[in-house]
Amino acid sequence: MIKIKTFPDKCSGCHLCEMACSIHHFGVVNINRSAIKVKKEDLTNGACEPVLCRQCKKMICMESNDHDFSDYQNQFSWDKSFMDSCPFESIFLFKEELYHCDLCGGSPKCVEVCSTGAIELRIKE
Ligand code: SF4
Ligand code: SF4
Repeated sequence: MIKIKTFPDKCSGCHLCEMACSIHHFGVVNINRSAIKVKKEDLTNGACEPVLCRQCKKMICMESNDHDFSDYQNQFSWDKSFMDSCPFESIFLFKEELYHCDLCGGSPKCVEVCSTGAIELRIKE
């Protein structure tokens, strides 16, 4: 099992990761249609941080829902009812769609395009 580890101090805020995600899943460049978000601290130091699903072993997001987590772990589009279920705010709503990182089936495109090392693939213990 793999996960994507983030290193915020290396993030330049270029948004390429979001673009790669939307291209892979929808064939369009639209940073809103992405399961990775680059958050920017506008009010203070302007620092950027890539945020995406941590692929938790124990999926807290599933606890209050009557669903089998294995159905959702590898899915990109989740039911809107999960909107507030992630305590890490790592799933993203755009219009009527909720996006969750599906790791692109094992070869995440965001990691491929990030040239600074702010997101890296790791083997989960
Ligand atoms: S591609 Fe890398 S450096 Fe660029 S915004 Fe995404 S995480 Fe940050
Ligand atoms: S959506 Fe949130 S709680 Fe669920 S596995 Fe991802 S990071 Fe963990």
